[in-house]
Amino acid sequence: MSTGILTIDLDAMAANWRALDAMSAGQTAAVVKADGYGLGAARVARALHRAGARHFFVAVAEEGAELRETLGREAQIYVFSGHMAGDTDMIGDLDLVPMINSIDQMIRHVEALPDHPFGIQLDTGMNRLGMEPEEWEAVRDIALDLSPQLVMSHLACADDPDHPMNAQQLAAFRAMTEGLDCPRSLANTGGVLMGPDYHFELTRPGIGVYGGLPYADAAPVVTLDVPVIQCRDLAAGETVGYGNSFTAARDTRIATISAGYGDGLIRAMGPRLLALSGEAACPVAGRISMDLIGVDITDLDHDPKSLRLLGADQLIDDLADAAGTIGYEILTAMGARYVRRYIGG
Ligand SMILES: *Cc1c(COP(=O)(O)O)cnc(C)c1O
Repeated sequence: MSTGILTIDLDAMAANWRALDAMSAGQTAAVVKADGYGLGAARVARALHRAGARHFFVAVAEEGAELRETLGREAQIYVFSGHMAGDTDMIGDLDLVPMINSIDQMIRHVEALPDHPFGIQLDTGMNRLGMEPEEWEAVRDIALDLSPQLVMSHLACADDPDHPMNAQQLAAFRAMTEGLDCPRSLANTGGVLMGPDYHFELTRPGIGVYGGLPYADAAPVVTLDVPVIQCRDLAAGETVGYGNSFTAARDTRIATISAGYGDGLIRAMGPRLLALSGEAACPVAGRISMDLIGVDITDLDHDPKSLRLLGADQLIDDLADAAGTIGYEILTAMGARYVRRYIGG
């Protein structure tokens, strides 16, 4: 077998969720969109359900439909994209709660599924999804008569607690939800960390549950081990990989490992990516290619069977820094080719 092995520590993940739950003033949901941030929505959601989560958020109704099969009847499953044309059967049959984003969606929902639960998503400045203050003003009384399950909005800058946008969105959310007696939700992971002012009745962490920033105290959840296919000796002056971008400065031993940008180890990580053998960190040699990466193992005293690219010594946010991106993208880009192995849970 030469595929990389992605090990997902469900106990560490559950501990992260419990810690975020303990910080939250009210109840705590779990966001499991994009296949549970790339880790496998079914396994992730089941483990979080066992840890006590009863509210789950997905991006689209199709994800909600799959999640319903996994979780059975008692969990609440909310859909951020709301009620789109073609979603009615899934929403109705599988008891999903669409977060209604516009007057058009509101009309579609009450016409198609008059007695079916729904939530409301408000725009407090991010200008991505949700009703604008004027739209909300226009439908507020009608919507409230139908008893929404939840009214929510989303923070644009919660990864930066000092950003003035946070207080601005909080004030806008308060103004738009003043006097409502249905549950409210504003905080993603960053919002949980900003404290109880942001929590309302339900928080919605995602990335922190999976071990990513801005939750700096999160336990690492993922480990990636990639098999070495071949090792070889190079004389000084020989080169490695496409474009000859690595030239051996000394007699060098190169291990070729079985993963590449086709598995989400994006090329831009380049030489800042490290490959770990136990404690020893070996530099990448040459360009990352689609399925293979060269690693300079000259300083190891043995040929390793595999090298570790992700774990406690190199976190998803380290890979993100290497590539000039964010941990979210590293996680959700993780290759379909990897074997996903689950421990704990
Ligand atoms: C993805 C998402 C979340 C979770 O955000 P994290 O930063 O991963 O905690 C919460 N709410 C909405 C609307 C989202 O799209």
